[in-house]
Amino acid sequence: MRSWTRWLAGLAGVVLLAAGVATGQPRRFVNVATGGTAGVYFPLGSALARLWTERIPGVQATAQATGASVANVRLLQRGEVEVALAQNDIVYYAFNGVEMFSRDPQTRLRGMAMLYPETIQIVTLRQKNINSVADLAGKRVAVGAPGSGTEVNARQILRLYDIGYAQTRQTHGLPRTVQADFLSFAEAADQLKDGIIDAAFLTAGVPTAAVQDIAATRDLKIVPIPEAVASRLRERYPYYTPVVIPPNSYRGQGEPVPTVAVMAMLVTRSDLPEDLVYELTKTMWENLSVLHQAHARGRDIRLETARAGMPLPLHAGALRYYRERGVR
Ligand code: GLU
Repeated sequence: MRSWTRWLAGLAGVVLLAAGVATGQPRRFVNVATGGTAGVYFPLGSALARLWTERIPGVQATAQATGASVANVRLLQRGEVEVALAQNDIVYYAFNGVEMFSRDPQTRLRGMAMLYPETIQIVTLRQKNINSVADLAGKRVAVGAPGSGTEVNARQILRLYDIGYAQTRQTHGLPRTVQADFLSFAEAADQLKDGIIDAAFLTAGVPTAAVQDIAATRDLKIVPIPEAVASRLRERYPYYTPVVIPPNSYRGQGEPVPTVAVMAMLVTRSDLPEDLVYELTKTMWENLSVLHQAHARGRDIRLETARAGMPLPLHAGALRYYRERGVR
């Protein structure tokens, strides 16, 4: 019996070796952690995975749907994925072991590229009469999927208005609460359209598919975060930048809406070989049109700003590429 298993193991080894010889290289699997399917990470991450598989010999890249930023950095740290999309605020908290990462700093994370702005969009329906974040108190609100960066943004922004989550211990003694539902963008869109929830937070590139979906059949309203509030938020959490959602980003949205944004970035793991990350980085920058086609925000992805505001050390392979191209 034992020699039988040994024989099988030997055979498997020979088959794997033969496959390696046939392609000239062993297969290298690159799992890309994205977000929910109604966001922007998913189409961009899927386009990247396709590009890497097609263009880099021996690389087999696959995009997977996840809860997004917080879940993604944990997947990277545990070695379950090789590349992830994530928000710069969450990556900063993770790498430095602050906020929700105070017990487990995610020290294996390394930067690959800064990508595009992700806008905090607080969406509701016109008939709900919700005109400011303060009006969310007492309402049923989708705060993002479990493990999302969106949920962290929702919690921080509500907290600035002294609003906590009702059904958890996260009220932190705050005087007012929302009934918080931990929903993906797609679930939030459905439940807003069906009148189950009153509002939803989404942190994602504009236009976000889930918001377009709501606007297609309902009177959408985006709740503003005025500049004065944005600067108070920034004092506590420096990664928020004031931005304006341009009019007509969504059907029926005639007015510009002030709010805040963070940055999406591409992150990898310190233990990945330098050559592999170099190839991934180079292939991405040399085929930008693929990202432009995948989503409108792909156009914000520019080599000159690839390192701007990077909140953690670059991976050596990415650094090699940027040095070659003179990107500082
Ligand atoms: N930034 C979002 C989050 O981490 C995900 C955005 C997206 O899926 O495009 O929650």
